Amino acid sequence: MSNLVYFLGQKAYINITNACTNACKFCVRDIKDDVKGANLWLDVQNVKADYVIEQIKNSAQKVLEGGEIVFCGYGEPLIKFEEVKKICQYVRKEMPELKIRINTNGHGNFVNKKNIVPELKGLIDSISISLNAQDEELYNKISQPKFEGAYEAMLDFARECVKCGIDTTMSVVSKFREDEYKLDIEKCEQIAHDIGAKFRNREWIKEGY
Ligand code: SF4
Repeated sequence: MSNLVYFLGQKAYINITNACTNACKFCVRDIKDDVKGANLWLDVQNVKADYVIEQIKNSAQKVLEGGEIVFCGYGEPLIKFEEVKKICQYVRKEMPELKIRINTNGHGNFVNKKNIVPELKGLIDSISISLNAQDEELYNKISQPKFEGAYEAMLDFARECVKCGIDTTMSVVSKFREDEYKLDIEKCEQIAHDIGAKFRNREWIKEGY
């Protein structure tokens, strides 16, 4: 079975799918097969919550020591929303001291064809949404979304998260091909703050995050 749960430093990460509605130019999926040694290409297409829960149980001590579990891998976790919910419910019940975060591209409502944010509230402690650009034109160049209106869908998703009281951060990846992509970090920060979210500027690193 693939690495559904992997560790970076002390923290546990859940890699539940390789599917994504973006094809970001900086995505580590396109660069290498592993993040700091953890191979994140899944050998099963249809990962079930039970498989992940099994791996969490197998490393329970280590997972708990990390203090937080993060949905983040070579794909968009909210494509597997139903499985994510089941995993969160398990963690909430069996490991209540553990914080839960989702790193997402913010397309969850589009993919699931409904507003999933109210269901996330209470199940997670925080969410990090990839803003990636100060406008749609640059977003489309950097993130290459697979559907129209993806930038606006991502912004709406962030607004919903803030409205529901989820601790929300919007992030950009800076220092990536700066000559080609004119990322305006100040504008991005302003967008995040106008929405009511925190802002995080993550510098691109070749080895992945
Ligand atoms: S949203 Fe994340 S997983 Fe999807 S292509 Fe972009 S960096 Fe990769």
